[in-house]
Amino acid sequence: MKNNILNLFSNKCPNCSKGTIFKNGLLNLGFGFPQMHKNCPNCNFKFEKEPGFFFGAMFVNYALGCAEALIIYFIATPFFDKTFDLRIFPIIGVTILTLSIFNIKLSRLIWIYIFKNYSK
Ligand SMILES: [Zn+2]
Repeated sequence: MKNNILNLFSNKCPNCSKGTIFKNGLLNLGFGFPQMHKNCPNCNFKFEKEPGFFFGAMFVNYALGCAEALIIYFIATPFFDKTFDLRIFPIIGVTILTLSIFNIKLSRLIWIYIFKNYSK
């Protein structure tokens, strides 16, 4: 379980933990949509099990966004006088936008790991 989480965050194949899933690492925040390998370069494990498989990853993406918004809210709140300051929303918006590529990658990695034993 612990290794799974480590492999997940290091962008490694859930089957052999050697090949990479995204061509750029998880923390490489380049512009444009992240490029994925279709199959593991090492063991040929198929990442996209069926067309539209990653549709479900959008829900993971959404959950990640909500979690991050909450975290930012709790970090930023002490810096404002009022407990609920509307100026906090642009900060949350910009941070989520900055993290969006990271979130897309992480949500797909999580999705792949959730279903890694599902079909063979
Ligand atoms: Zn592999």
